[in-house]
Amino acid sequence: MAETTQTEATPDKPTAHGWCTWHKGVAEGIRLISAIEQGSGPGVSLFACGPCRDLYGLVPLTDR
Ligand SMILES: [Zn+2]
Repeated sequence: MAETTQTEATPDKPTAHGWCTWHKGVAEGIRLISAIEQGSGPGVSLFACGPCRDLYGLVPLTDR
């Protein structure tokens, strides 16, 4: 009886609800992937949902 411990989910963290930049839609459990600092104007924050992080191999900023 093997238990699967490969889940990357972090159940202790609340799931964020917001815009996923990668599939261009609203999703649950999004994480901040990168915040692009710009010289002028607001920086651009890129968020990705779980499936997109798996698909594109994205690593959340806080996990680096
Ligand atoms: Zn997505």
